[in-house]
Amino acid sequence: MLLKNAYLCQFKENEFMPIFADVVIDEGKIIKIKSKSYEKFLKFRADSEEPENNTLSEYDANGRVVLPPLVNFHEHIYSRLSKGLPVTGDLSSFIKVLENLWWKLDRALKEKSIKASAQIAAIEAVRNGVGTVFDHHASPSAVSGSLNLIKQELKLRDIKGVLCYEVSDRNGKENMKQGVEENIDFFRFRTSEQFKSQFGLHALFTLSDESLNYIHNEVGDEDIGYHLHVAEGKYDVEFNKKNFSSTLLQRMKKFDLLNKKTFIVHGNHLTSSDLKQLNKYKVNIVHNPDSNFNNAVGTLNIEKVPQGLNLLLGTDGMHCNMLKTYKMAFLNLRHQNRNSTLGFDLLNRIFCNQFSTLKRFFGKSDQLRLADEGNFIVTDYIPYTPLNRENILGHFIYGITESSVRTMYQNEHFLMHDFDIEDEAKILKNAYAAGKEVFQNFEKLDK
Ligand SMILES: [Zn+2]
Repeated sequence: MLLKNAYLCQFKENEFMPIFADVVIDEGKIIKIKSKSYEKFLKFRADSEEPENNTLSEYDANGRVVLPPLVNFHEHIYSRLSKGLPVTGDLSSFIKVLENLWWKLDRALKEKSIKASAQIAAIEAVRNGVGTVFDHHASPSAVSGSLNLIKQELKLRDIKGVLCYEVSDRNGKENMKQGVEENIDFFRFRTSEQFKSQFGLHALFTLSDESLNYIHNEVGDEDIGYHLHVAEGKYDVEFNKKNFSSTLLQRMKKFDLLNKKTFIVHGNHLTSSDLKQLNKYKVNIVHNPDSNFNNAVGTLNIEKVPQGLNLLLGTDGMHCNMLKTYKMAFLNLRHQNRNSTLGFDLLNRIFCNQFSTLKRFFGKSDQLRLADEGNFIVTDYIPYTPLNRENILGHFIYGITESSVRTMYQNEHFLMHDFDIEDEAKILKNAYAAGKEVFQNFEKLDK
């Protein structure tokens, strides 16, 4: 496959390395990169009247910026059928939003709607150039086999996944145990080259010491990271203090939840002393700015996150638009600190962290270098000012994050070709039918 006229963003030693080039991909590997002059190309393009005519074996990026596929580090695929849901309860606090919206929606899900949610989420991932999704799943009325259902749908679209089931006490002891079993079953028997797992916990405020002890014993000495919401709202901090006389960190340490594959999601109300202590464990911390704004729960000040913590971004089920999420994180950082000089270094760090994190889970990552896997996305951004190593982050924030992804190539084929995604209409029709059922189930839970 020839990818020509691409403004390729390669990565070397945690730095963007843009190069204008033609790229040859053979059997999924980049075998040739030929750099050329962007200015000559612009002149040729301005004089040429030829229309774009892309095929499956030759793709003309026409000067557009090409990136490795993006990663969403905190997703809730189960939220996909929630748009327009007939919510009637009190939504005046974060805990009420959980009780009257999300914890009711997850109970309304059955196999058919989990499958439809995963199909829609896979299309959204492709539409946004996301090649790997870390999902935190909940469906208390259909726990067993739910992760495999999601895996099958992602696999059909060639999206990679790191999956887990969010264990919680909120639907009783037996349901909690089913969640534990689902995590362990997926970890032991369902992982593959494209699919890895974590152990999902909803949050410490919905797990008793008895349950955490049970989980600790069931996991034993398996090498598995945990994926849990931590200090998203103040409620989590206060609840743990009041009911367990512990800080969140003390409970995580007590049950041995902290390791290099663990994802601390949000961390909005962790203190700087907590962050410093977490630093020792080299855990990952996932910032979800859109969701934090939406739930009005406060946000993590990413400027205060110590260097040793692996800072990542996620969408928390709001959408799968990672370019938008980078923009939100950047703007929030400047706004929160009232400092217009911040952002580029941190953004560079977060963007490059995705590569080391993928390596932790998959043993490799795509950085668009010679001999790397030839997976890429084409953004709809053609630079109209000089672009180089020094100013690429300016182009990224003010240009690339404002553009759409138009093409995605992963696992040796196009998942989206100039905005066209195979079978999209069929999937939307199925999702609509499943969504109607979910709305009905949801309304019944009120009665
Ligand atoms: Zn979440």
